[in-house]
Amino acid sequence: MPVPLLDVNAQNSPLNSELQAAFAQVLQHGRFIMGPEMEVFEKEVAAMVGVKHALAVSSGTDALLLALMAIDLQPGDEVLCPAFTFFATAGAVSRLGGVPVFTDICPICFNMDVNDARAKITARTKAIIPVHLFGQSADMDPLLALAQEKGLRVIEDGAQAIGAHYKGRACGAMGDFGTYSFFPSKNLGGFGDGGMLVTNDDELAEFAKVLRVHGSKPKYFHHYVGGNFRMDTVQCALLSVKLKHYSRYTAERQNNAAHYTQELSQLPGVVTADPTHCKCVQTQDTWLEKQDAKLVLPVAYAHNTHIWNQYTLRVLNGQRDALRDHLQKSGIGCEIYYPLTLDQQPCFADLPASSRSGCEVSHRMAGEVLSLPIYGELSLEQRLEVIAVIRDWLSA
Ligand SMILES: *Cc1c(COP(=O)(O)O)cnc(C)c1O
Repeated sequence: MPVPLLDVNAQNSPLNSELQAAFAQVLQHGRFIMGPEMEVFEKEVAAMVGVKHALAVSSGTDALLLALMAIDLQPGDEVLCPAFTFFATAGAVSRLGGVPVFTDICPICFNMDVNDARAKITARTKAIIPVHLFGQSADMDPLLALAQEKGLRVIEDGAQAIGAHYKGRACGAMGDFGTYSFFPSKNLGGFGDGGMLVTNDDELAEFAKVLRVHGSKPKYFHHYVGGNFRMDTVQCALLSVKLKHYSRYTAERQNNAAHYTQELSQLPGVVTADPTHCKCVQTQDTWLEKQDAKLVLPVAYAHNTHIWNQYTLRVLNGQRDALRDHLQKSGIGCEIYYPLTLDQQPCFADLPASSRSGCEVSHRMAGEVLSLPIYGELSLEQRLEVIAVIRDWLSA
């Protein structure tokens, strides 16, 4: 039985009539740009994550760009971001002439190592962009304390983490800005591109709102140079339909992750990552060696509510590509998020060496990670198939 990495139709088909009705309504009133459904959707997202302001925007990437414009990032300003993340996190900084400075990551949650961030702050550092990778929060308390101490802005890249929590606080709602993405593979998957920018700061919200429409206020009068960062009305209307089911989607992903962990952890050579090894790779290595570990299963810190955008294994002993090939040959979708860290990307080769230093854990993870199908609609049979194929590979 083939198991795709992602199946957007499995989630969208049951909503067919609701989606058609929402689409028909927008078609009928014809207000395709910033129509009434946009404000409705913004209010719904703001209520869900507990923020004062939510701005629907053209993509998760543009949400980052808009946030950086709103904090007035200037050419040459440095922005700390993890080396192990999707490209957009650093791409947005570069597009404004800023300098991304890459930090290493924690080998347990794959998120920014705050101690490394501290070590890389200079007089030019303007902001930090923690990423809540794979649906789990970065360690926000020390990060926010560091930002406050050094007078830095915090933009949370929550593209993979809408609805995730850190010590009871929503990912995206803790920094100056939070950003979300509705790219179809994200947990709240849309019907094309879309994103959201959220903040509790009235002034930042107002500025971002103006920048979203070319910096114009009133219309055709421009004090600033903004862009076209709007989300389509029809996209908002359709996403409102899905948002009503969002807590169920999350529960299903959490259920799938728990099932994988329960079954896989019983196989020889498989261990679940130990949160006490946070930030000490040496201790963790000794521990993994002692157990003759071949696979490390992902884990959530006790203070985090993980929403499992990805269920990401670490495959040890240089065997990652072998397991990927075996899964693919057996009809199991899987993907490497991400095969090359950002400090190693050719487009950043001209950055100063100081912004690309000390990312050893990130490099190692890029060579070990492999993500399995985890979407909510996976059937029990499909999950058992994934588990069986991994069991066969381990015992071969
Ligand atoms: C998907 C993603 C983005 C970009 O979102 P888009 O909506 O595709 O532009 C940014 N950061 C991270 C971590 C992402 O996963």
